[in-house]
Amino acid sequence: GLPVKSCMTPLAEAMKVESVEGLPKLPGDDAEPQIHLVEIKEVDVLIIGAGPAGLAAAVELGKLGVETLIIDDKNRTGGKLVLQTHKFFGSVEDSYAGTRGFEIAAILEEEINKLESVDIRLNTTAVGVFSDKIIGAVKGVRGSRYRQIKPKKLLIATGAREKMLSFPGNTLPGVYGAGAFQTLVNRDLVKSSEKVLIVGGGNVGLIAGYHAIQAGIEVVALIEALPQVGGYKVHADKLKRLGVPILTGHTVVAAGG
Ligand SMILES: Cc1cc2nc3c(=O)[nH]c(=O)nc-3n(C[C@H](O)[C@H](O)[C@H](O)COP(=O)(O)OP(=O)(O)OC[C@H]3O[C@@H](n4cnc5c(N)ncnc54)[C@H](O)[C@@H]3O)c2cc1C
Repeated sequence: GLPVKSCMTPLAEAMKVESVEGLPKLPGDDAEPQIHLVEIKEVDVLIIGAGPAGLAAAVELGKLGVETLIIDDKNRTGGKLVLQTHKFFGSVEDSYAGTRGFEIAAILEEEINKLESVDIRLNTTAVGVFSDKIIGAVKGVRGSRYRQIKPKKLLIATGAREKMLSFPGNTLPGVYGAGAFQTLVNRDLVKSSEKVLIVGGGNVGLIAGYHAIQAGIEVVALIEALPQVGGYKVHADKLKRLGVPILTGHTVVAAGG
């Protein structure tokens, strides 16, 4: 198998979607690149990533009146929070326990909107941090515009990504990492299949089990290589009550298609 990451670009009108069988075709005639001077935006603090880490840092900086720019490659703030429909655990004061992930994202964005010194630019991807301390960023997916930002301080809060397992067949359609699965069922409200098998019994795997059931997908089993699941007992117990078999001491050897 190969390590893979699903690429999620929202469909837009007139977009041409092609299979990647073989090599993709290059455009017939390469137009001359248009070279022009790029404006450099100076700012006190640049934060790359508007997940909970970037947003929380911006709130603190904003309270101190520090001029802060946050950029994020997605079209909304929240990072992984927008994929989470369940209520969070932990401390109510420190981490909004009892509130659903996507609602926490909305709370943080509302706090930021009240802070005059903080600005958010979405659909903007940081593509390079150069030796002259300038950050290159591209805005937009189609008709992209290149920008340069020169911050006094840079905070990189580009976040987390699940560790995808490599096994024969892991690139077949229908084999997803947890992030892609949660993006489909929770953010884009797409029922990805009728049935799912979950590999991995940490909190993300256990919670993905609830997310599947919420989306009307049957969880045929959750398998875990260790003798016990690593996630919270409360999540594992809830899945068992919902009728999901949890098979410890099991792993995936191949997906047959
Ligand atoms: C699939 C999955 C599910 C998870 N579920 C939970 C959960 O239920 N509860 C929990 O507490 N934790 C969960 N986690 C852990 C979770 O990632 C962290 O709790 C939290 O989201 C980390 O916050 P963050 O701000 O560091 O990163 P993220 O939330 O990942 O946010 C980072 C942001 O930076 C953006 N970004 C990345 N690269 C660039 C770039 N070059 N330019 C511009 N923007 C960029 C990303 O698109 C994203 O919006 C999960 C992790 C994964 C991978």
